[in-house]
Amino acid sequence: MFKQNLHTHSLYCDGKDTIEEMVQEAISRNFDVLGFSGHGYCSIDTYSMPFDKMEKYIQDVQQAKEKYKDQISIYLGIEQDVLGKRFEKNDPFDYIIGSVHFVNVADQYLAVDMDKNTTEKIVEFCGDFLTYAKVYYEEVKKIAAMDEVDIVGHVDLLTKFNEDESFIRFDNLDYLALAKECIDELIKANKIFEVNTGAIARGYRKSPYPHKTLLEYIHQKGGKILLNSDCHNRFKLDCNYKESLELIKECGFQSMMAFDGKKFVEKDLDEFGY
Ligand SMILES: [Zn+2]
Ligand SMILES: [Zn+2]
Repeated sequence: MFKQNLHTHSLYCDGKDTIEEMVQEAISRNFDVLGFSGHGYCSIDTYSMPFDKMEKYIQDVQQAKEKYKDQISIYLGIEQDVLGKRFEKNDPFDYIIGSVHFVNVADQYLAVDMDKNTTEKIVEFCGDFLTYAKVYYEEVKKIAAMDEVDIVGHVDLLTKFNEDESFIRFDNLDYLALAKECIDELIKANKIFEVNTGAIARGYRKSPYPHKTLLEYIHQKGGKILLNSDCHNRFKLDCNYKESLELIKECGFQSMMAFDGKKFVEKDLDEFGY
């Protein structure tokens, strides 16, 4: 049975644990693959890694990779914000996650995932949620042109505070059209989508990103996926993995992508067990 998480934060950015603590936790939870993905430098946010910190992060992950190589495969990744520094793959990163955390409205950058209040503010500036969605998905589309990016992070993050559908109904056709158009672009560019359980771990959502309707669409369109916990706290390293695997099966998928150290390979869902 195979168990993987490629979206992991640590004390180097906004996570709660050291690299070492995270690796030990992954081993105790029978992970085969643990990839770190610290927030790459982005001048807009306060939690991403400045360059001096990043050097230490790289060193720390590489040391853990060597130290624990007989017990678990550790990989070095980075979560690159569309507005942040662009990184090069294999220099020294094994893989790159591309994410949108901010939108530019009324001449300021506001965080998509900050809190309900900020989301309300963004909607107010935009006029309505659909206009916000248009602005957001235009940003996410930029990831399609970033050749260095392997995985699209939390593709519908803008719905983080929409569990009660107070901003938009998840079956709103105009909303879905915007999301699907973006997904089409990303599939064309061969990006892998993550099923991301991070908001469940923090109590904001009951189901992972992307919403089931969009996950079904990704499947219909032949898109590839993998499961990540966007872990900021080691005790949530495999949060909702079992339930999400069921959801992935319900959406029609028969495989997920696994990282083998050099490339992403397709693995049958039967090989994943949580
Ligand atoms: Zn993120
Ligand atoms: Zn993240």
